[in-house]
Amino acid sequence: MRNVLAILLPDGAFSRTEAEVLTAGKGLAHQLGADLAAAVLGPADDALACDCFAYGAKSVIRVDGLAAYQNEIYSAAAQEVAKAAAADVVLFPSTTYGLEIAPVLGYRLGAAVVLDCIRVEGDSAGNLAITKPVYGGKANSELIARQGPVVIAMRMRSVAPGEKQDGATGEIRTIPSPGVAPKTQILEHKTEDTGSGPKLEDARVIVSGGRGMGNKENFVQLEEVARILGGSVGASRAACDLGWVPASFQIGQTGKKVAPDLYLAVGISGASQHLVGIAGARHVVAINKDERAPIFQIAALGVVDDWQALLPKLREALKEHQDKNS
Ligand code: FAD
Repeated sequence: MRNVLAILLPDGAFSRTEAEVLTAGKGLAHQLGADLAAAVLGPADDALACDCFAYGAKSVIRVDGLAAYQNEIYSAAAQEVAKAAAADVVLFPSTTYGLEIAPVLGYRLGAAVVLDCIRVEGDSAGNLAITKPVYGGKANSELIARQGPVVIAMRMRSVAPGEKQDGATGEIRTIPSPGVAPKTQILEHKTEDTGSGPKLEDARVIVSGGRGMGNKENFVQLEEVARILGGSVGASRAACDLGWVPASFQIGQTGKKVAPDLYLAVGISGASQHLVGIAGARHVVAINKDERAPIFQIAALGVVDDWQALLPKLREALKEHQDKNS
């Protein structure tokens, strides 16, 4: 039997990200004939532990006295919780911190490490089948792990959170913070400008602009559409490099990987490096005045037009629809 542990790094509160990892872990543990344990790195009150139980954890491990994220301390804490849970399979979310810690833990456990997975399945013999997109999402690769520990980072929004079982309970254990003296020191914390909507990685709707937006001021129009749709604004690297939006808005190979239900690409050509970041998007809608723009090859719906003619009409139509339904 393989013991399954989901290591969570909630950013203040339990969110969909944690629910997704627990749901993936619960399903896997069930297939392996095991129970799911959850470990919370960072502040974890009783309500957060209850959320872990509600999404399928049978036990929760907390680490006493863990202050703000510091890779060396959190990696050591991850090692401690993996030991405490006697974990053979460890799941992380593919967040910035999850992606930092997973390889370190993998190295320390002598484990196979698979990042950016979209599916993981097991069988009663303990075999794991792990699926991850490759070639910028053009193909999926399937990896089989028959033995040994495995560390997996789950791509966000690749798993729909399961039904929440309020009132579910389990065992809560608290272990001491590892006595690690870090070799590095954090001099300053800077809060990332993420705009007004949800985090890009969590957003159900992303309205994204590229060089075709023409200037910084025009991004306000994307913000308005995003606000009506309850989404966030993203951007191509070109738009970020031009200083129209912060670098934290960048989507793609060297930016964020997103998986919204709707990705509206405005004035974005669809270079392969951008497409890598939206491989997980369910529906891509593109507005581009060049009918040969590569974005149209992956768009479910494409409009060949100048966005300046189209976007105001779209905004008005959405607003009207919203007013009618409010
Ligand atoms: P362009 O390619 O210039 O496209 C602008 C589009 O806007 C055109 O298709 C044009 O027809 C359209 N347009 C212009 N005016 C209008 C209008 N009025 N109405 C409608 N459409 C209009 N890029 C990323 O995005 N993310 C990454 O993470 C990333 N990583 C990279 C990593 C490496 C190693 C390299 C080499 C490149 C990377 N790039 C990345 C850059 C990528 O190759 C492209 O240069 C970039 O994505 C282009 O951005 P864009 O589509 O906004 O601009």
